[in-house]
Amino acid sequence: MVQLSKTPLPPGITITSADDYRKDVVFKTLAADCYNKCYICEDKPSTINVEHIIPHRKDPKLKYDWNNLFIACGHCNNTKLAKYDNILDPTKSDPEEHIALSIDISDDLINCVSVELLTTDSAAIQTSELLKFVYNGGLTELKEIECSNLRNEHLLPNIRLFYQYIKNYSEEPDLGYDIMIKKEISRSSAFAAFKRKIVRDDPKLSLIFADLLN
Ligand SMILES: [Zn+2]
Repeated sequence: MVQLSKTPLPPGITITSADDYRKDVVFKTLAADCYNKCYICEDKPSTINVEHIIPHRKDPKLKYDWNNLFIACGHCNNTKLAKYDNILDPTKSDPEEHIALSIDISDDLINCVSVELLTTDSAAIQTSELLKFVYNGGLTELKEIECSNLRNEHLLPNIRLFYQYIKNYSEEPDLGYDIMIKKEISRSSAFAAFKRKIVRDDPKLSLIFADLLN
């Protein structure tokens, strides 16, 4: 999860039914605000859903509140359901100040994502629990497959490519790989929180790219 901001809906556009989510301007604005990625796992999947950060439980105020709507992948949407009613709102606080995400690659696989709590904020605690289920599973066998695919088919290639850019940049600093690294650690990048932590933890890179880590 990474910080983002919400664009106000254009004047005259209202949301009064679930059909309104599909209005071109509504869906496109929402997707662009969420950088076309799942706001929970940060994957850029082929299928995305409109997700309510606070479960609406049929309350129209929450169901049609623009500020309560986000974009999520099917896996995260089905993992979160209505069980989590107090997760970090990435438009109100920076999730990276509360949670650090990292991986270990062994035998060419990510077997587990480390979800480290940095604060005792109640929303951060609930978000960290959700993220553990999202990345590491522990719910159903079907979910184990989804989690493994998320880690190893989506997250792993992204992080591998990012490490390659870092390696190339350290070996050949003048070939433009700094531009690739900047793109990868922008908040719009897939799995940006992981990449930003890798740079933040590196003494040299954290200085070079300090202005992009705020
Ligand atoms: Zn997701």
